[in-house]
Amino acid sequence: MHEIVNVTFELKTYEYIEPFRIANNVENKAHNVEVKVYLKDGAVGIGEASPSYRVNGERVSALLALEDDVKEMISGEDVKNYRRIFNIMDGLSRTAPSVKAAVQYATLDALSAIWNAPVYQILGGHKNRIHTDKTIGIDTLNVMVEKARKTFEEGFKTLKIKIGENLKEDIEKMVAISEATPEASYIVDANQGYTTKTAVQFAQEVYRQNVNVVVFEQPIMWNDHDGLKLLRYASPFPIAADESAKTKHDVYDLIRNECVDFVNIKLMKSGLSDALSIVELAKTTNIGLMIGCMGESSVGINQSVHFAAGTGAFSYHDLDSHMMLKENFRGKFKQERDNLIPTL
Ligand code: MN
Repeated sequence: MHEIVNVTFELKTYEYIEPFRIANNVENKAHNVEVKVYLKDGAVGIGEASPSYRVNGERVSALLALEDDVKEMISGEDVKNYRRIFNIMDGLSRTAPSVKAAVQYATLDALSAIWNAPVYQILGGHKNRIHTDKTIGIDTLNVMVEKARKTFEEGFKTLKIKIGENLKEDIEKMVAISEATPEASYIVDANQGYTTKTAVQFAQEVYRQNVNVVVFEQPIMWNDHDGLKLLRYASPFPIAADESAKTKHDVYDLIRNECVDFVNIKLMKSGLSDALSIVELAKTTNIGLMIGCMGESSVGINQSVHFAAGTGAFSYHDLDSHMMLKENFRGKFKQERDNLIPTL
């Protein structure tokens, strides 16, 4: 009845409304893979992979080539036994994590149709709405201040600010943004652009100037665990791992070695299976959690909205990539200002 009979991959290219700049990287387009899982009784589940070469080493052409393999791997499986399908897809954790995420989510989406229950309730139904931040990419000081002011006025109380290319300018930008939007909270993301020394300087100076930074994300290189540990104890702000934290094994190492206060879970790095494990690891060890995104359209952001609401595990939600892309909205959630409300 509910077994998988076909799996299809489709390339979807989305243009950014304007180029999205982060430390040492600019994106103009998102090349995503839309995954559909077809069941014998006609139900269809949909998921989206938004690969990142920078973080995961994924190329979209290599992902598209997996279509027949994935079909062979999960054909005949019943989506009601979704943990079996999750386990099969775990084999792609290191080579195609975004495809793993999309197939795992498409499985739950098909199950959602069968059970007539939204995915966030299949995952536990902890919350029925979440609040997202909105990201300000790297630009001149004046442009960043203006965008921060406008975004805060639109109702986004948490702003994610991209920095990491120039210490002195970054400090000036953060102070100016904070003066323009004094009621806002800031997640500051250097995307590995700093050294341990410049990261300490940034955090201490911005703290001295009373900027309300709630999370300082991935200041230094992903593989520098010694530097992260030093930073964690030298920074007045909580240190979050993003590029360092892909699989549950990465997060286990980071926590065990006292490298982080926060972890930024992204389904595109971890899939749903590792993300579920990371949630429990973090809860067990009192580590904070945020959830982020790559270049997902509303189809892909939908996955994280349902995951975040269902588990209710996140202090901060950075689920805004669909707002940065030219697309027709197709998510199974409603959006009112910074509110994201999952639906069936
Ligand atoms: Mn990040």
